[in-house]
Amino acid sequence: MATKVYMDYAATTPVKKEVLDSMIPYYTEKYGNPSSVYSLGRESRKTIDESREKIANILGANPKEIYFTSGGSEADNWAIKAVAMANKDKGNHIITSKIEHHAVLHTCEYLEKHGFEVTYLDVDEYGMVDLEQLKKSITDKTILISIMFANNEIGTIQPIKEIGQIAREKGVYFHTDAVQAVGNVKIDVNELNIDMMSMSAHKIYGPKGIGALYIKKGVKIDPHIHGGAQERKRRAGTENVAGIVGFAKAMELAYENLEEHISKLTKLRDKLINDVKNKIDYVRLNGHPEKRLPGNASFCIEFIEGEALLLNLDMAGIAASSGSACTSGSLDPSHVLMAIGLPHEIAHGSLRLTLGDFTTEKDVDYVVEKLVEIVDRLRQMSPLYEKVKGV
Ligand SMILES: *Cc1c(COP(=O)(O)O)cnc(C)c1O
Repeated sequence: MATKVYMDYAATTPVKKEVLDSMIPYYTEKYGNPSSVYSLGRESRKTIDESREKIANILGANPKEIYFTSGGSEADNWAIKAVAMANKDKGNHIITSKIEHHAVLHTCEYLEKHGFEVTYLDVDEYGMVDLEQLKKSITDKTILISIMFANNEIGTIQPIKEIGQIAREKGVYFHTDAVQAVGNVKIDVNELNIDMMSMSAHKIYGPKGIGALYIKKGVKIDPHIHGGAQERKRRAGTENVAGIVGFAKAMELAYENLEEHISKLTKLRDKLINDVKNKIDYVRLNGHPEKRLPGNASFCIEFIEGEALLLNLDMAGIAASSGSACTSGSLDPSHVLMAIGLPHEIAHGSLRLTLGDFTTEKDVDYVVEKLVEIVDRLRQMSPLYEKVKGV
């Protein structure tokens, strides 16, 4: 069945029409290489500069502190590996959390094979890091703290300003993966004490394959891609001009309407959460009840296999997800659900519904209706459920 209701905005988003329209000329008539001296090239250069400025202004950054990358994964890799390399004479210790995106976790695991030591902080049942544990973990060898702004699976938003404050007091760099927070939270990098921040366009109605790393002036970090002089000699390669234009447009749209976007999504999300809780028994909401992304509803539905649930939802034309897109397909329950302390059998019944700018109340009603039917049908096949219900 064709997708009738898309509820996987945390995996990716459609490109908005205004965004696509802003990009097309940079594939057709305005195709000059930004490094070329003639006017066609200079026009591309000017467009990149303007886009960088727009993004920087929204984040309270200087345009020179914005470096374009191919997306969030590259920005995470760059921040962590290149700070590690540039500061290894100071120390070899990195602190992160157990619920990071794999772009952060696997990068840290890679560094562990090359002589770095990594502390993976626990989180509480809501997915929050403990600031006291963070403070205690910092040693004189610590060079970097990398904690995500908002979690992609359970939506929990971390106390970023406080983490940044702790890092700054101890003279340790602070990187945050803000891929899910950008476009959903007001962000001022200076106010929040952020030294480096990863972003991605395709999570905010922009194109895939473009993102950025904010690097605060003065941070000691190695270049990431060696080659030409692009991105202030730190990230070589002919720029993705159309992608950069689309990313800037998507940022502008997101922050022009931020309040409206947040209040609309929060309302729809809370309706979805309440309806699911009222109409289905043995359901728990994952993540923090209040400090969560406006469009995130993550559940564990007991006595159900998440994979079976997703397939049945798909047959009803509903696109949803269990853990993160990167882990679906594997049989291990998500590392995030394990970290918040869920037992295996409950974590297996996870369902992530993420709402976005094109979600309607009708969509929510349709999803709840189908979910009730499907859960009921699947549970009829569960001997355990029958036993618990005492029938
Ligand atoms: C999607 C996502 C990424 C990866 O971004 P890409 O642009 O797809 O590489 C990284 N971190 C988080 C939290 C994400 O949600």
